[in-house]
Amino acid sequence: MLPDGERRSAHDAAVFNLREKRDQAGRAEPDFERLREHARALKAHALDHLDLLLERFEENASRAGAVVHWAEDAPALNRIVHQLLESRGARRVVKSKSMLTEECGLNPYLESRGVEVVDTDLGERIVQLASEPPSHIIMPAIHRSREDIGALFHRELDVPPGETDPVRLTEAARRHLRSCFLGADAAITGANFAVAESGTLVVVTNEGNADLGMSLPGLHVACLGLEKLIPGLADLAVLLRLLARSATGQPISVYTSLVNGPRPGAELHIVLVDNGRTRLLADERHRRALGCIRCGACLNTCPVYRRAGGHAYGFAIPGPIGLVLAPALGGTEEQRGLPLASTLCGSCTAVCPVKIDLHEQLISWRASDVPRGLRERLLSRFAAACLSSPALYALAGLALRAAWPVLSRRWPGNPAGPWLASRELPTHPGASFRARWRDRVRGAGP
Ligand code: SF4
Repeated sequence: MLPDGERRSAHDAAVFNLREKRDQAGRAEPDFERLREHARALKAHALDHLDLLLERFEENASRAGAVVHWAEDAPALNRIVHQLLESRGARRVVKSKSMLTEECGLNPYLESRGVEVVDTDLGERIVQLASEPPSHIIMPAIHRSREDIGALFHRELDVPPGETDPVRLTEAARRHLRSCFLGADAAITGANFAVAESGTLVVVTNEGNADLGMSLPGLHVACLGLEKLIPGLADLAVLLRLLARSATGQPISVYTSLVNGPRPGAELHIVLVDNGRTRLLADERHRRALGCIRCGACLNTCPVYRRAGGHAYGFAIPGPIGLVLAPALGGTEEQRGLPLASTLCGSCTAVCPVKIDLHEQLISWRASDVPRGLRERLLSRFAAACLSSPALYALAGLALRAAWPVLSRRWPGNPAGPWLASRELPTHPGASFRARWRDRVRGAGP
């Protein structure tokens, strides 16, 4: 959770600035709303035909010279990647933006087996040097100030103390990363999209780090979730027009690379990862969340994310889309409770380029997580009876007001105990709304 005060306000402002740029870019693109509708339909179509698209992709990528692997879950992905690296004696790896490898814990897995992994996206390298996870899906170090980064680079990269100039800090990172690229035995990347009709991987960055990684070492391992599949290159044109505009307000990202098979003399391995995605696909209510193109727009507009920061979520993907995916792709009790971290204001749904009904999905996750014990069933029946009978409602209000002084004290067995554990019960107004209204109509009340 971000500390109160200046740091929280700076994060809020930096993130909302991205939201405003997204709005400006949307207004400048006359087709923006039509593109969103088109993207929604094409992702829905892709998810409905995912089995066919995956088969076609494997066939075409293999024909182009890639080797396609399938991983059922995170341990399978980690094992496959490690075996590929180990069998080729690769000890140093450069990695480019892949939230999936973050979700599956690939870095610690490889590092515990003696493989050095360097994240090459500048933001990701910053959080890696600081030994912390990314806090945003496209701006991994957005929670850190220039001063923080200067101090970190002084400690880790030997820049002069007190350096806060972004140009000089970037230059220092570039020098450091260049030596990592040149000394790497293998590259691991994610992919933004995988095109079934041609077996093509599409990698979008603003720094060109993925391109450098894919071009230098002899082994490239691409790790992607099953949901990245789209039918054809024409569909890619629609999604690319939305992705950068929704993420940073740019008309297009600086680098968009299409990879068809390995370079001459090199190897390309593609690992298609399930890790809970087919379970989500089978869930009619929530499957549309798989249409996410990871633009981050829902994070940038979310009032909770903007003030709490990404680390508060404890899941690789924070913000509204993380809240929706965590119960399906996560696993811990804590992650299943994440749908509660929302105001349900609906702003995330309003900005999503592929029109995922995020806040509706959060409501639905919350409903499916309501406890179903005897006590809850009796309480909900009692509440239903009170709400359908004005006399019973008035009586229940009277009883609750009478019991308030006892309920608001801490004592063993108090049914309000869980609430009182972390806050005070507010004082009640003393009389029901109807009594106060009656008094007011008679001219006797405020
Ligand atoms: S859910 Fe929508 S807005 Fe959020 S990251 Fe995914 S595509 Fe972007």
